[in-house]
Amino acid sequence: MIQLPKPQTVRCQQAIDDIRNTAETCEISACPRRATEVRHIKSKGSGGPDLRCNLIALCREHHADAQVYRIPQVDLFRITVRREGIALARGSIRPSDWILHRT
Ligand SMILES: [Zn+2]
Repeated sequence: MIQLPKPQTVRCQQAIDDIRNTAETCEISACPRRATEVRHIKSKGSGGPDLRCNLIALCREHHADAQVYRIPQVDLFRITVRREGIALARGSIRPSDWILHRT
């Protein structure tokens, strides 16, 4: 069987550091806890880019929830898309698709 190379994706430590350094509290609505971790919404392992819209600052508890998809990816993308001021045509495309299309 032929192994195809993984498609190239954006790697940018600066984007991760920026999210980590600017978020004071967890980005989940109404969560008062400190943001201590940065999560790739679409995981690095599945080609998720180091783009701000794919990175979210979370408290430890919400990171654990996100890791097992107790918080749907689309809900996390809604937060980052709003944070970044990205306008999405209502109903035309899901934020998670937008990430895929961008990379
Ligand atoms: Zn939280």
